[in-house]
This record gives sequence, C-alpha cells and structure tokens, in this order.
Amino acid sequence: MSWEERLARADLKTLWLLGHPVGHSLSPRIQNAALQALGAPWVYLAADLDPKNFEEAARGLGQLGAVGANVTVPFKERAWALCDELSDRARVMGACNVLSFVDGKIHGDNTDGVGWLRALELGVPDFYPRRALVLGAGGAARAILLALVEKGVPQIFILNRSFERANALKEQFSGLGATSITVTSLDRFPQLVSSGDLVVQTTSVGLDRLSSPVKLPLVWPKEVVLSELIYGEPTPLLKAVRERGAMVCDGLAMLVFQAAESLARWMNCSFEEIPWRVMGQAVGLMATPIFDGSMRGCGPTVEAIAFE
Ligand code: NDP
Repeated sequence: MSWEERLARADLKTLWLLGHPVGHSLSPRIQNAALQALGAPWVYLAADLDPKNFEEAARGLGQLGAVGANVTVPFKERAWALCDELSDRARVMGACNVLSFVDGKIHGDNTDGVGWLRALELGVPDFYPRRALVLGAGGAARAILLALVEKGVPQIFILNRSFERANALKEQFSGLGATSITVTSLDRFPQLVSSGDLVVQTTSVGLDRLSSPVKLPLVWPKEVVLSELIYGEPTPLLKAVRERGAMVCDGLAMLVFQAAESLARWMNCSFEEIPWRVMGQAVGLMATPIFDGSMRGCGPTVEAIAFE
C-alpha cells in the first residue's frame, strides 16, 4: 500500500517531537525524509506543548499507539522522570531526548552524545582524539563528556564559567572510565588549545552570532578540530577557526545523527540500516565542507599531534 493510500485510510503510525517551542525545528524534515526513503508507514509530527501538559501529552501518545517521540527543550529532564525504563546512557544523562512506547510502557534513551560522536567519526574519519577541550558544562556538555569517556579519550579539560557546574560533571564522569578530567576557566583557553587535538564548543555563547565564549589564540594549530554545537549561521568562533584553515564541524551534524540514532531505536535496527545521508541531505548537511569531502586531507593524524 502506498503512503498516500495509508494516509487516506488513517493507517499511519506516528512519531513526535515534543518541545516548546518547536516551530523552528529541523527534526520533522530530517525524520520524514528518512521515513519516505524507507517507505515506512510512519509520519513524524511536531507538538508545541504548553509546559503544564507535558506528562499528560506524552502518556497520551503512548495510549494513542504512537511509536515514539523525540523530546527537546525544555522537557528532556521531565521526560527522564516519566519513563518506566531507561537505557544506561539515559540513566547517566538524567535527561531523555528519545521516548519509545512499547507494550504500555515508556522507554527512555539519550542519543545526543552518540549522535555527536557519529558526526565526528563520519566527518573526520580515523581521528582518535587524545586530549579534548570541552567549553561549557550544561546539558549538552554532559552528552559530549559521556561520548568522549565511552570513546576512551585519555584526557579532557572542562572549561566553564561556573566552576561548580564543571566540578559536578568532573565528579560524575571521573568514575566512569579511564579518562582524566581537569576543570579550568575559559580564560585559559588560548594557552591550552595548542596542547589539545579537539575543541568542543557546547556553551550557548555565540547564539547571537556576535560573541565568543573564549579569546582566540594568535595561532590556531591546523590539526586542532573544532566541533561547534550551535548550527545555522556560523558563530564568530567557527568562522575564525575556519579562516585559519582548521577542520570545523557545526551542530547540524549532531542534530542529524542524534535523529538517525533515534530512528534506529524506534525501528529496532542498527545505525547502518538508517539512511543518514538522506537525512543529512534534507537539511543541507551533505553540502557542508566536512561532509562533502572538501576538507579531507587537512585533518589531523595521530602522529601529527604534539603533546605537552
Ligand atoms: P545549558 O543551559 O544547559 O548550558 C549552557 C552553557 O553555556 C553552560 O556551560 C553555561 O555556563 C554556558 N554559558 C551561558 N552563558 C554564558 C556566558 N555569557 N558566558 C560563558 N558561558 C556561558 O544549555 P545546553 O547545554 O542544553 O545547550 C548549550 C548549547 O548547545 C545551545 O546553544 C544549544 O543550541 C546547543 N545544542 C545543540 C545541539 C545539537 O544537536 N546541535 C543539541 C543540544 C544543544 P554556566 O554553567 O557558567 O552557566
């Protein structure tokens, strides 16, 4: 049966984005491109929820037979608290961006970190970061830290405005793997950057496209990759680093790959079976330098990285 015939018979299962607001979101475009490519009898819709209705709406979707939902700002923590079962990652994160409705129960997962890592691995193949600098210590930083610790990155610096938040993250993640974690201030960035090989910018500074969370060093070493989580119009930091000839990746790739990982959860299949290129094409990701291949060859090699 074609998708149109199923629509006429109201025989489509639903996936949802739950957030407030959601009007700007690219997720429906990304997910529906994949569903169409797969010929799946599912449709992905966005719901802008009044905050007081979140729990009731999420439970109601399960009762209506929805397959699952993505959850975005400001409901990720409330989604976590609502779940009957949690993945190991979601448990550590204390926040869910994926809900699955199965046999009357709500399963929660978190694909932000694993999606970000996929973006890095596919955008910069054969890159094994040894020393990562994470700017920020909020919810997004928590996802990145989990991914870096799971990947076995030996050393991480957390640079944040509030030491309290950064120390709380250090405490949580230090016990999880063999990674050594150090907390320091954003002011130290210009001195630290050349000793790293990866910088992940997770603060919200730069959303205004005017400000940067750190001062740039006089020289940005070419082998230091910048992953900026903000997407859309380039931030001043991303622009400046790109002009210095280093590899940069903005947050669009993370958005696409967390979506692909979400779909893999709902379809109960492997990431390899998800048409992530189609999902990326739907929002212009495949035309960006790091994914269209034009930055190949200027990336880091493990041998090229100098350590203190
Ligand atoms: P949080 O509110 O949890 O954390 C914000 C972070 O930014 C904190 O570290 C905070 O520092 C820092 N910060 C805010 N203002 C300033 C400032 N003026 N100077 C220095 N530091 C500042 O937000 P999230 O972690 O959820 O999100 C952060 C960013 O990541 C957002 O821009 C969001 O759009 C992006 N993001 C992108 C995703 C993607 O798929 N591409 C997914 C998730 C997030 P402090 O602790 O001191 O307050």
